[in-house]
Amino acid sequence: MGRIYLIDVTNRDGVQTARLGLSKLAKTMINIYLNEMGVFQSEFGFPTTRHESNYLRANLELQEMGVLQPIHLGGWLRATTEDVEKAFELVPAIKDINISISTSRQMINGKFQGTKSEQDILLMAAEAIDVARAHGAQTIGVNAEDASRTDDDFLIKFGTLAREHGADRLRYCDTLGYDNPFTIYNICKLLAQEVGLPIELHTHGDLGMAVANSVTGAMGVIDGGQDAYINTTINGIGERAGNADLVAVVLALKKSKGLARKYKFGRPIRLSKAWKICKYASYAFNVPIPINQPGVGANAFAHASGIHADGVLKDPENYELYDFKELGRGEPEMVETGREIASGEYSGISGFRHVMGKMDIEFADREDAEEILELARYANVLAQQPLVADELYFIAKYPEIARKLLTLTPLA
Ligand SMILES: [Zn+2]
Repeated sequence: MGRIYLIDVTNRDGVQTARLGLSKLAKTMINIYLNEMGVFQSEFGFPTTRHESNYLRANLELQEMGVLQPIHLGGWLRATTEDVEKAFELVPAIKDINISISTSRQMINGKFQGTKSEQDILLMAAEAIDVARAHGAQTIGVNAEDASRTDDDFLIKFGTLAREHGADRLRYCDTLGYDNPFTIYNICKLLAQEVGLPIELHTHGDLGMAVANSVTGAMGVIDGGQDAYINTTINGIGERAGNADLVAVVLALKKSKGLARKYKFGRPIRLSKAWKICKYASYAFNVPIPINQPGVGANAFAHASGIHADGVLKDPENYELYDFKELGRGEPEMVETGREIASGEYSGISGFRHVMGKMDIEFADREDAEEILELARYANVLAQQPLVADELYFIAKYPEIARKLLTLTPLA
């Protein structure tokens, strides 16, 4: 029986969203939180984009050091020989990649403007896989962009060719959110059976069905005899109407009628980390969590109407499917209501020692404190808002890694 794994793509699909972005330190914190939560892989960025190079290398170093273990760190790139070569030139230690190419007739004609045939697409993908393997890629996912508008036969041909060239997974991208739970179940079951590779579900919310589609798509994959890998983003942040929300996907798989009995996670998911990761992503992206967000919205456990309040007081299970404690909620949060000294890009040593002292971070001497302060100032320049405690802890604990994350010198 196949298992379900999560590949979170916040650090790729989330950050490529219009009007949104994250500092490299924030992306690193997200990788750390995803690892704590039990997510199988973080799609951590773009290995061909030069301003990501230091960040990607530093995160692979954290992996080497055991800090980012056992999570996989996957890079996203186009399925061309040039991009694969550039990725391994800029980020030589990268092990996990997903290479992407459009497979629908709409996109092949519309994007390549008649210069590429379906045969060319197959050749490009095959060559890119071969080159990636030759450069030492350990896992290669092959993404069929706009798979939901691609003919079934061509998709099977594409996936089979990927398998024959040694790809590890096929990513079924419902790029425009066009599928519904029935169509995606059927095609993903067929692909699992015919292609014989684990399938990734990458869904979007243009029609409000991203979570439902990833869950039923995964059911199709498992019923077709393969492992399923669901692509999620924290708070559902992603291109246009967003992606499948991480917490909602986990809740659906754990709590929906009968699902948990049949469909199991490959790695245990610690739902208790949900509150922390969602709050952090909301702060880092500067996007509030909608009050009606599943599990982590302000109203997810709020009751006002007489009948509901009475019912939930007698027995929470009358009106709640799951307990707020399961999501890591319920702990009191400290909010400063009087004098506050915050970290900033123009902070001085005395204010900084005060902030760090409150967090029980002691420095060996003034020189040591000044070094960390300098890094925190740079982090503030990039974040443009006060750093949170975990970010300051991180900088104090891994100053050399922080230095790399904060270095954005354009490469020649
Ligand atoms: Zn996407």
